[in-house]
Amino acid sequence: MSCGQRSLTSFPCSQCGLCCQHVQLAPETRFLDRGDGTCRHYDVASKGCSIYMERPDICRVDRQYLMNYAQQYSWDEFVAVNVKACEFLQAGQVG
Ligand code: SF4
Ligand code: SF4
Repeated sequence: MSCGQRSLTSFPCSQCGLCCQHVQLAPETRFLDRGDGTCRHYDVASKGCSIYMERPDICRVDRQYLMNYAQQYSWDEFVAVNVKACEFLQAGQVG
């Protein structure tokens, strides 16, 4: 993926869909909650985002990095923090 002069490796998303089913966990994504923690744009059948091309900035890990975290972290560090959050969800440590 290419972002201007910066080239970032892809985020290693397994498309498990769990982050989209727990949007209540972060203040920045709570506005997407349909009422049970799942995003109102999440498509259960395909386990995907129904507005993927138009999804909000908060759902774009590369854009979030460039907008808010590139001054503090390397891309690899930022990926590692986010992968930990994925692993936390995948371990079933939240309801
Ligand atoms: S929880 Fe992580 S691996 Fe699963 S869909 Fe979200 S970003 Fe991808
Ligand atoms: S807008 Fe799409 S990518 Fe963002 S939380 Fe909802 S379903 Fe997931």
